[in-house]
Amino acid sequence: MEGSNSKELVRCYCGEVAELTTAWKPSNPGRRFYGCRFYGISSACKFFRWYDERAPERSKEVINGLLRHLNDYEKEKHPKQQKGNCLIFILVILLVLLVIALFFAFTVSVACLDGRKLMLH
Ligand SMILES: [Zn+2]
Repeated sequence: MEGSNSKELVRCYCGEVAELTTAWKPSNPGRRFYGCRFYGISSACKFFRWYDERAPERSKEVINGLLRHLNDYEKEKHPKQQKGNCLIFILVILLVLLVIALFFAFTVSVACLDGRKLMLH
């Protein structure tokens, strides 16, 4: 009765409907499991139950190989974006420093002018 199993509402120790999540660790890539929907919050319970049967070793190797290729592809693709983000960050820092420098230059010049006025009077 696989059909009725997929409609089953699994509840965690909190009494809430458990969340069906997919594992992506190399030991169980793509295998789904139930967990507490509050996972990551201190009040979450430690409920855990596999939904899928254990995958054959060959499918784990294939999925992990595909994930490695995807990660390599993303690493090749992202360096240009990271350089672009770095340049924008440096430009923003330089602009902020320029504004601070202009503010202090203006403040010092006004203070000097005030000092001269005070000396003249
Ligand atoms: Zn819970």
